[in-house]
Amino acid sequence: MLEVRQLSHTFQNGTEQTPVLKEINFRVDKGEMISLLGSSGSGKSTLLNLMAGLMKPTEGSILISGQPIEKMNENQLAEFRRTHIGFIFQSYELIPHFTVRENVELPLVFHGVKPSVRKEKSMKLLSQVGLADKTELFPSQLSGGQQQRVSIARSLITEPAIVFADEPTGNLDSKTEQEIIDLLIDLNANSGITFVIVTHEQEVAMQTGRIIHLKDGELTEDTRGRAITGPAIPAVSGNEAFMNE
Ligand code: ADP
Ligand code: MG
Repeated sequence: MLEVRQLSHTFQNGTEQTPVLKEINFRVDKGEMISLLGSSGSGKSTLLNLMAGLMKPTEGSILISGQPIEKMNENQLAEFRRTHIGFIFQSYELIPHFTVRENVELPLVFHGVKPSVRKEKSMKLLSQVGLADKTELFPSQLSGGQQQRVSIARSLITEPAIVFADEPTGNLDSKTEQEIIDLLIDLNANSGITFVIVTHEQEVAMQTGRIIHLKDGELTEDTRGRAITGPAIPAVSGNEAFMNE
């Protein structure tokens, strides 16, 4: 699903060079949920942005579904991102004057999908993330955790193969954080979508199947997180059942 090969990145500002990532190699299988764990400044966001095609690496390759995204031109990459990649930001990045439902549907507007189909898909996703009764509200009328649920629904509406999340619970209190992590685990278990989650918190990383540790721009360890056993969990609000398993 995702393969990172000999990836290095150096930021260049004028004559100043800042090497940030050094010869990173790993691969992620379809349906895996992994964390990138490291302290602040270790290069997590840079690595995530490179994998999501938001920046070009100075060296190395990133393959998503077998396609080297660093070789694509701007238009190809934009189209590939629209059809294969979802992204969840720490700060939600919702459009304030759009309703919850309009925010979720926005990627489909870019795809030229007609309103009735957009609505059907957004309502289904919003109910999956627990916001069926909030669809016509504006982001400012929601709590932080609810806003992140909107952003999660938006990331899934194009049915991406892989979703990247940069510190998705970084702005939330610990109870809400756990609810969002439970939701992501649930969505991963039920959708087969691959998730890559950046975090600096060990407790969050431990809940994903696998942890890639970054330190000063180097991959230092690749370890197991939570054991994933048994059949997929039933869809929608299966969080509690799952936690008790
Ligand atoms: P993390 O997400 O793990 O906190 P980042 O990937 O944001 O780390 O940053 C890694 C390092 O790269 C930091 O030292 C940061 O200062 C540096 N860095 C990030 N973006 C830039 C940039 N645009 N120009 C120069 N240095 C940068
Ligand atoms: Mg970061």
